[in-house]
Amino acid sequence: MNRNVVDDRNVKALAGAVKACWSCRGPVDVRAMFCATCDALQGPTAVDHFERLELSRTFDIDLADLDRSYFRLQRLLHPDRFAAKSAPERAHSLAHSTALNRAYEILKDPLTCAEYLLTCLGAPLAGEDKTTADPVLLGEALERREALADATDALAVAALAAAAERDAEVCRATIGRAFTGNDLKAARAHTLRLRYLAKFLDDARVRQPRGAARRAASAHGATT
Ligand SMILES: [Zn+2]
Repeated sequence: MNRNVVDDRNVKALAGAVKACWSCRGPVDVRAMFCATCDALQGPTAVDHFERLELSRTFDIDLADLDRSYFRLQRLLHPDRFAAKSAPERAHSLAHSTALNRAYEILKDPLTCAEYLLTCLGAPLAGEDKTTADPVLLGEALERREALADATDALAVAALAAAAERDAEVCRATIGRAFTGNDLKAARAHTLRLRYLAKFLDDARVRQPRGAARRAASAHGATT
């Protein structure tokens, strides 16, 4: 289980809840970043990564929205802005900044975003391994790994990587449709495939110089 996941009961319990401001002791909405009375920065709330970045809980995140939200919140909460403030505010600012970075990292990558969303929806992939995975998927993964092991030059590796990248793109679109249709079984299966493809692409990258995959992809595009 991902330790950063907040379960739904916790999220619902937070709605409308009030706590005492650490600075003036006045009432503050537990989700508020700043105290309405004294303006002191409050500590980050245990919300999920989507809510932290003020995005709706979806796989199809608009990356421009994600960037806008992340940079706006980082500007508002960044430790540099609180350098001259009290120690508790400096600590809260650092905690906010760290939580924002973590949320941004998870959500901007389609694979980690899909894994995280599955966990949020109560269908985590944690514990999914070679012994439980789909045999068709295992066969495909094995075939690709063998082809990579047999590849004798950088161009062959790059062609394999380009093919895997094209499959990953199709896979990401399929995951999006599965989440949209609330088909968690399909979302899990295709996320698992994307995980294998990402691992394969990492392995292929180690074997080829930078830029070779792009050149192979465009060469492929030019000949087909
Ligand atoms: Zn206050």
